[in-house]
Amino acid sequence: MKIAVIGAGVIGVTTALELVSHGHEVVVYEKGSGIAQQASFAASGFMGPGLVNSWTASGLFSRQFKKWLTGESGIHVNGLLQFPGGWVWQWLRACGHPEAGLKLASLQRLAFYSQEVFKGVTEQYGLSYENSPGSLLLCRSEADFQEVELQLSLLKDAGILYKTLSAADTQLLEPALSTETELWGSVCFPHDAVANCRQFTILAKQEAEQLGVVFKTGHEVLPLSISKPGLLNFADKETALFDHVVVCAGIHSKALVQKLGIELPVLAVHGYSLSAALREEMDAPTCGVLDAKHQVAIARSGQRIRVSGMCEIGPARPTAEENTRLLYKVLNDWFAGAAKTQDNVQVWRGTRDVMSDGVPVLGLSGVPGVWLNTGHGNHGWACSSGSARAIADMVSGRDCEIDLKGLGIERF
Ligand SMILES: Cc1cc2nc3c(=O)[nH]c(=O)nc-3n(C[C@H](O)[C@H](O)[C@H](O)COP(=O)(O)OP(=O)(O)OC[C@H]3O[C@@H](n4cnc5c(N)ncnc54)[C@H](O)[C@@H]3O)c2cc1C
Repeated sequence: MKIAVIGAGVIGVTTALELVSHGHEVVVYEKGSGIAQQASFAASGFMGPGLVNSWTASGLFSRQFKKWLTGESGIHVNGLLQFPGGWVWQWLRACGHPEAGLKLASLQRLAFYSQEVFKGVTEQYGLSYENSPGSLLLCRSEADFQEVELQLSLLKDAGILYKTLSAADTQLLEPALSTETELWGSVCFPHDAVANCRQFTILAKQEAEQLGVVFKTGHEVLPLSISKPGLLNFADKETALFDHVVVCAGIHSKALVQKLGIELPVLAVHGYSLSAALREEMDAPTCGVLDAKHQVAIARSGQRIRVSGMCEIGPARPTAEENTRLLYKVLNDWFAGAAKTQDNVQVWRGTRDVMSDGVPVLGLSGVPGVWLNTGHGNHGWACSSGSARAIADMVSGRDCEIDLKGLGIERF
């Protein structure tokens, strides 16, 4: 079948690779000048189910609200009018919903499956990219640990390995960790990993191209039309007809499908990362580290240290300093000597597409021939390979290897 993929971030590229492997003729349209230049550009890189969490996890709202009031959360709302009322209403309902735990379990399952598919793809094509094994959730206090208990209990039920460590054992595992910052303990996820999302996406694109996928950058697809959803119209007035269209346009997916009568309840949540040259190997983390209190991640990516986090809703604050202060603070709290932060620091602002119930939308859109692989929020990299395989299976009429309950558009 002739299939169009809209968007060449990690989701679109992995989807294209899976579709061509399933025997389809695939064209990827990207409005930018290259691939992985939006949300997939400089993400933290955490993979695996361990640190996957949903914005609707039990108690998260009240805890984050308190932290927001005290300025500890890394959340910044630039004008309350930035919140679409419908999104907030659906989000509050999802937070209190008795099945919120099931949603989180679906997300963890998807991340777990994704990790398996990702390993297979890496082996099959012999891909080599920056990565480090394991991740660690640092808890400054017992309260930090209690915040992730739901997440952990679901992992346990699913048989996914993690280990709770005392402060002393955490220090043994991560010798470069500062002893001057108060540490209660940590949760270690030995089978999770950190890897470079953009680098992987570029390699996956090259493999897809060799298998026959055509990538057309600089091609902006206009909103799909209900009269002929398989007919793509481009900003430069060209058109092209396909049997199927898979929408992988990140935060822009909403506008692409609105005229089909599909209302995606998605919020643009911006985040930041700093990438700085490694200063001293011995002072750097060996695995991916997430500060539970501030939700700031620190990881080594080749010869660089990447620090990321923050949730900004609305326009950016005027100075980069205001936006990244917390990232520098957390880096200094834990790995003060790891990075050269005096000059040549790459500061990046990326946009996550967060669905009101905290999990992505995967599957048929309800309009024949139009498929959705979008709304991945905080975990698009972790869930990319599995989501791509599942969509390719569905489009090809095969059974999915994973139960996608709770991830379809029909839930809204
Ligand atoms: C600070 C930060 C840290 C993160 N850390 C992690 C992490 O540790 N682990 C993790 O799993 N995830 C993480 N994420 C989330 C992850 O980066 C995203 O979920 C993922 O990159 C989404 O990929 P995507 O392909 O859906 O979107 P994108 O990468 O944004 O790709 C969408 C593409 O569609 C194109 N497009 C849009 N509209 C059109 C159109 N009309 N026509 C043609 N092309 C179009 C865009 O130009 C873009 O290239 C993080 C995000 C941020 C912001």
